[in-house]
Amino acid sequence: LTERDPAGGYAAFDRYVGEHMAAWTRELVDFCTIGSEAGDPEALRSAAAWTGDRLRRLGAEVDVVTLDGVAPLVLGEIGQGPVLTAVQHYDVRPAVPLELWTSPPYAPEVRNGRLYARGATDNKGELLARIWAAEAYLATIGPLPCRIRYLVEGEEESGSVHLAELLALRPASLLADGALIEGGGIDLHGRPQVVGGVRGMAMMELACHTIAYDAHSSLSNILPSATIRLIKALATFWDEDGAPSIEGLRTGVRAPTPEQLAVVARIPDEDIDDLRQVFGIDRFVGGLAGQAAARALTFDPTCNVQGLWSGYIGPGGKTITPAEAHARLDIRLVPDQDPDVIIEAVRAHLAHRGFGDIEVSPLMSQYRAWWSAPDDPLVLAAIRVSEAVVGKPAVQDLSMAGTAPMHAVCAEHGVPATSLGSADDECRAHAPDESYRLDYAALAVQITGRFLDEFAALASR
Ligand SMILES: [Zn+2]
Repeated sequence: LTERDPAGGYAAFDRYVGEHMAAWTRELVDFCTIGSEAGDPEALRSAAAWTGDRLRRLGAEVDVVTLDGVAPLVLGEIGQGPVLTAVQHYDVRPAVPLELWTSPPYAPEVRNGRLYARGATDNKGELLARIWAAEAYLATIGPLPCRIRYLVEGEEESGSVHLAELLALRPASLLADGALIEGGGIDLHGRPQVVGGVRGMAMMELACHTIAYDAHSSLSNILPSATIRLIKALATFWDEDGAPSIEGLRTGVRAPTPEQLAVVARIPDEDIDDLRQVFGIDRFVGGLAGQAAARALTFDPTCNVQGLWSGYIGPGGKTITPAEAHARLDIRLVPDQDPDVIIEAVRAHLAHRGFGDIEVSPLMSQYRAWWSAPDDPLVLAAIRVSEAVVGKPAVQDLSMAGTAPMHAVCAEHGVPATSLGSADDECRAHAPDESYRLDYAALAVQITGRFLDEFAALASR
């Protein structure tokens, strides 16, 4: 480990970042022209190849793990010492509806300091920022103080369905001293957000069939409508205030520790309450606010309807009593909940309420949550470097609100995880007009470069 004066130690590094942002932006533009959506195997292969080439140019050893008919997993390793796995992906959410984009999703365009393209932040920009950090470190400081493993999958946006199977082909790729969740954030007030984990998820489809086929609606006083039956079944999933109330929904929930409660207690109230303004409402579900809302967002499983469909909604009208109705649900989980157990709880709840005929089928995305201890040295190091670069106190949370396959990567060897980066609230990940704020991208590179030293120092303690 080299002893360097932290005040002067990154001056050359930071200068390199400033001088290379223009070229790096062109590189991100190039990566984002590949429409690597789940339904396009050709584009996924080309994004995997692009990723492998970029990692080789960095100097990494690249190993492309393949399975028949599956987007390849790209592993790139560089440096010596303790191992830091950066969990990334090269696939993107579908860009539809295209008409809502100001410029086409795969014709990247820079406007007002932001690069607009599908994948610009999630996750091509965030992946590249971590590659750029290693490049700048090598160019201005010297050999990397740790070994970075870029673990870049191509099915993240469609549920990481084969990730465990791909990783099982390379068991050594699960051995690591720390892991980085795919990105990181800076909030509306310019404060870095650092989390130590991700939520899990159980996703399922409900199907209700009542009569043999759609009937003339004049018969609706005597024929059971599938639409109405599904609505009545769904209505039992929440209490009067709208809080989830499925029996067994909390199965497996680990009680929060005093340390975890203390972290949530420090989340600024406005970080949560601002969301009322963002979404144009006066009141959260159940009248939650501030701390109570923060605790619900962190420690409670959710129960969300993604969509429901039944009957006829085309032009004009069609007087039918529908024979079938469907709904798609996602339930975001906390440690140590098991998605299979939760799907079973939904079935049991329906059966107890007299809706045992409604079929519950798991959908592809099933994840367990993965949370590091809030005082894990890895998380504290992420907070230190983020604050040093951004110049504002970090907002720490136990978990990001969303889901990522950290359990699959970290659980076997108990690897702690944290977040690092600079996605902002305006980035519109998954939505039309996704973008990456380029001055924040430079911050992500600076944060990551410093983190490599902190990470190496942790391991040598
Ligand atoms: Zn992502």
